[in-house]
Amino acid sequence: MGFFDFFKNMFKKQTCAFCGGECGVMTRTKIKGDEYICSKCDDLCSQHIRKGRFTKDELSAHMEYMKRSDRVFKEVIGGFDKGECIPHPNNRQTFQFFDEHGMFIIRESSRDRNENYPVELFRYDQLAGYEPYFEDRAPSEEGKPREFVEGGIKLTFIGGRDIPNDIRKGAMAHPYITETVKVCMAKTDREREDHLKYVDNIIAHFDYIFGVHDAEKGLFQFGMSKEEKRNLQGNVAMVNTFIDAVKIAKSGQTELTPEQQAEFDKNKALMNDAATGGLAKYTRAADDAWNKIQ
Ligand SMILES: [Zn+2]
Repeated sequence: MGFFDFFKNMFKKQTCAFCGGECGVMTRTKIKGDEYICSKCDDLCSQHIRKGRFTKDELSAHMEYMKRSDRVFKEVIGGFDKGECIPHPNNRQTFQFFDEHGMFIIRESSRDRNENYPVELFRYDQLAGYEPYFEDRAPSEEGKPREFVEGGIKLTFIGGRDIPNDIRKGAMAHPYITETVKVCMAKTDREREDHLKYVDNIIAHFDYIFGVHDAEKGLFQFGMSKEEKRNLQGNVAMVNTFIDAVKIAKSGQTELTPEQQAEFDKNKALMNDAATGGLAKYTRAADDAWNKIQ
């Protein structure tokens, strides 16, 4: 392709593969299969995926997924007023945790109240890792301290590129996100002061979800740790299930009564919790919420 053809092509208006609208060079992204998505349709997708990796059909399915996520957030979870937000939502980017639904969102003050952006829910059981990040650079003047660039929390999702092979029990792959997601909590020196405190609180919350400290007992705390309790409950549930199974087999029953079924489901859940370090509880909660919207 010659020089002028190249420029002619570059500045040629293209048609968005989704809405059919014209999109200029500054407001479009190329997707797989030599097609384009305009910035308006791009807003209907996750901000954390590279559109160029997907075909038109895959992105159409993704937009449906995002629509469903937005409805689960508004109609099942109950929107921004629910859950726990760390730090305050006026900040640059924040986490809002919905533990009882096994999910969280990343808030961005500039996008929150705009109805055009669907809210993207993340499941705890899709998370492969979370860690603080901090970037600085060489000072502009010699002898000065290094300059702060930004800091926050880096998330990796299961199914992503750089995740370890030993995936936790009970974890699920994220259907779309493969890149690391950076949640920026500070970009200025003023914000930097509070940044460490926020990061600590958020890491502590994820540690709580993933049972990082479950095997520890407080110095003056008597009795069982959270992990011991969970394992004991799991064992009791397993024994109960076997006892029930034997009884049912002996009685010649061919189907479970609703009470027996409920008891079996409860015990199965307790066994799962023990086997997955407590994560199965969040998987069930997220499944429940997600399945309420079709
Ligand atoms: Zn479009």
